[in-house]
Amino acid sequence: MIAGVAASAVPVNLGEGKGAIRVKVAAIVLILLGGLLAGCGSRQAQSAPKWTLTKESEAVVADAELRGEIFKALDAAERVHTDPFISHFPVRAATVLKVNGKEEVVLGGNSEYGRPEGIHGESSLLNHVTVMYGADVTRHAVRFVAFYGQTCGGTGSCGDCRDYQIATTDYEHLLVACGQASDHTVRVRRFMDQLVCERDFPEVDGAKIPLRPGDLAKLVRLAEEARTGGVTLFTPGHNSAAAGLSWTGKTYRAAGADDAAFHYRYPVGGMLQQAATEGDYLMRAVVVAGEPGQWPAVSYRDRQYGYEVSTFNHAQGKPPILLILTDGRGSYKMTTFESALPYAFSTAAFMPDALSAFLKSHAAAKVQHP
Ligand SMILES: [Zn+2]
Repeated sequence: MIAGVAASAVPVNLGEGKGAIRVKVAAIVLILLGGLLAGCGSRQAQSAPKWTLTKESEAVVADAELRGEIFKALDAAERVHTDPFISHFPVRAATVLKVNGKEEVVLGGNSEYGRPEGIHGESSLLNHVTVMYGADVTRHAVRFVAFYGQTCGGTGSCGDCRDYQIATTDYEHLLVACGQASDHTVRVRRFMDQLVCERDFPEVDGAKIPLRPGDLAKLVRLAEEARTGGVTLFTPGHNSAAAGLSWTGKTYRAAGADDAAFHYRYPVGGMLQQAATEGDYLMRAVVVAGEPGQWPAVSYRDRQYGYEVSTFNHAQGKPPILLILTDGRGSYKMTTFESALPYAFSTAAFMPDALSAFLKSHAAAKVQHP
């Protein structure tokens, strides 16, 4: 787990220009960091660490040459430069791959900006492979992503980095290694462990979905109506929409929206943002609709938004948000964001007390000033 990196509050200057507000932000900033979530502390004054695979990892990496490449990548990742000025949490990544028979080392690291935004370590790394050797090499020659950290947490990539790895690599065979400097052990897992395909979401009789029949029908209608809107300049025919029911009984909805900068606004995230705008943080169910007659896809980035908000439910003693897919023909699949995003991380894991205080104060403030 990641408890080891969640303990200390980090004073961070989030303001811009004069009157900058100095805010104590605990390890929430770690949500920016993408995959690894290892406690990457300060560099130790040591040379040439001898890496050893954990027992479970030996079976995952049987090939001795590949093991050597992973260890070599970890040595290289130790030297990666990063710019985590908000979180102070460096994510150092590297891979070793063969290009035209020659062994090459490629590096990646996280960099933070804005209020807050972040380029994550694994996306940085894969982008560098493409820049240096081309998209085909990224797709066919990258066998693993290795992270160097002081300690290794148990969490995977953020949803967005999962989407990027799916899009750019031979992800069904991709390995994820984490080498921890504290004892030089290396844990290797399959990237596929972080994925759950929509086709594996359990199908469920609509009558057994724990909502009032009227509520389910309303959510389906809202999502299907929303889907006719949105912005699909670059995604014709692929739009989906989401409708949500909160524990206060209110409903919200949003359609996907693209733009020329390719900063897609995702439907689940958009709907949750609307609910949050109203101070309605505890969602009961989310229905996603796509092309009539087809199961909609739910991107990992959107699952990340849902996962984060579902942890608000945990903080307030509510069950996880129900994630329901409709095929538009009366069939349903039902799961949770927790099941749909294995090895996820969220603010709740880093600073549960601060999250509870946030939910309490913001919900109360909204009621007082409607
Ligand atoms: Zn990420």
